Amino acid sequence: MMLGYLLARAGVEVTVLEKHADFFRDFRGDTIHPATTEILAELGLLEEFLRLPHTEVPELRLGIDGETFGLVDFRHLPTRCKFMAFMPQWDFLNFLAGKAKQYPAFRLEMSTEATDLLRSGERVTGVRARTAQGDVEIRADFTVACDGRFSDIREHADLPVREFAMPIDVLWFRVPRGQDAPPTLGYLGGGQIVLAIDRGDYWQCGTIIGKGTFTQIQAEGLATFRDRVAHAAPFLASGLDSLTGWDQVKLLSVRSNRLRRWYRPGLLCIGDAAHAMSPAGAAGVNYAIADAVATANHLALPLLKGTLAVADLQHVQRRREPAIRRAQALQRQQTRQLAALSRRNPPLQLMRLISRTPLVKRRLGRIVGLGFRREHVRSLHHSNRR
Ligand SMILES: Cc1cc2nc3c(=O)[nH]c(=O)nc-3n(C[C@H](O)[C@H](O)[C@H](O)COP(=O)(O)OP(=O)(O)OC[C@H]3O[C@@H](n4cnc5c(N)ncnc54)[C@H](O)[C@@H]3O)c2cc1C
Repeated sequence: MMLGYLLARAGVEVTVLEKHADFFRDFRGDTIHPATTEILAELGLLEEFLRLPHTEVPELRLGIDGETFGLVDFRHLPTRCKFMAFMPQWDFLNFLAGKAKQYPAFRLEMSTEATDLLRSGERVTGVRARTAQGDVEIRADFTVACDGRFSDIREHADLPVREFAMPIDVLWFRVPRGQDAPPTLGYLGGGQIVLAIDRGDYWQCGTIIGKGTFTQIQAEGLATFRDRVAHAAPFLASGLDSLTGWDQVKLLSVRSNRLRRWYRPGLLCIGDAAHAMSPAGAAGVNYAIADAVATANHLALPLLKGTLAVADLQHVQRRREPAIRRAQALQRQQTRQLAALSRRNPPLQLMRLISRTPLVKRRLGRIVGLGFRREHVRSLHHSNRR
């Protein structure tokens, strides 16, 4: 959506396909990092964005057995927003779609699922798509696969993938809001890690489990699951009675991988389609948006001039891949730590030391809040709006 917005803003005719009828699906990344809000500021969208309902979190905190540790501090970042914003992803996507539709060059086709690539010899020339009215062919000078971590399009493009083993999965569920809790994101206790995102009248909760252990957890029973969650995050206990069936608990399979080559003639993969991000550090949305900005910065002009070449696509990969490699390596380390945390609590002395050392917390704030390579909007702005 961000790339669609940026290209239309530059005057490039663009069609975004979304297979669902709307964006109202729960359990997606809800975090908007300071680097992303800075991009919105560069686009002149920040003020309006901040008027949407959201929560501002200046410091990420972890609660362990009743003690709270501030670990990641955004308050000293050189950005306008010195906090991480939490906003349901559907609100963010609807906001961007609304802004993009102001440009006559932008089209959004909902309920339209890309099912295959069209080709002319080696060159990708668009997609075949399924709609309620039947299959259609959508021809394009340039196609971008940004269809997420289970990307069908990259499969069809037959691009080689390097897969990294992930020791965890995530279970998501909602808990009605009862007792208020301190603004802490993560809770740890009794071998259970629980994330709780404030969604107004309910908590969107996630809990980390060992890869492939959901069936075993189900066999142990819902009461045991509720007890474990309540042990880690006691303020959720009263609301957990509302969890009465496993159909209220969604398994999100964690993947981490990276394409060796992100492109073919006429096609580029970005975001999770090029490099599926694990939830560790909650950074995948930020990196996907940075990919979109880098892509628009480099490709808008050749697209307008009709001179787009494979070397341009190569340039995008070269620019983004080093940051993604570093981010994924860090995520692998964080994911191993998360898996270890479910076996034993971290030394509280270490947690206390970090939470009392501003320099370390600020350093972590930079890594999480800004990512490894920030992108700034440099693509053209064609002022024509509807
Ligand atoms: C359990 C879990 C929790 C996470 N939590 C966070 C978090 O808190 N913060 C964070 O920053 N990141 C988080 N991530 C990572 C983050 O979700 C991704 O990195 C990010 O969403 C990637 O954005 P994207 O636009 O590339 O893909 P997606 O957000 O996956 O978007 C792909 C879109 O393409 C659509 N689509 C798919 N196939 C087709 C098709 N064939 N035709 C048309 N449309 C199609 C989908 O419906 C979807 O709307 C999490 C990941 C997991 C697994």
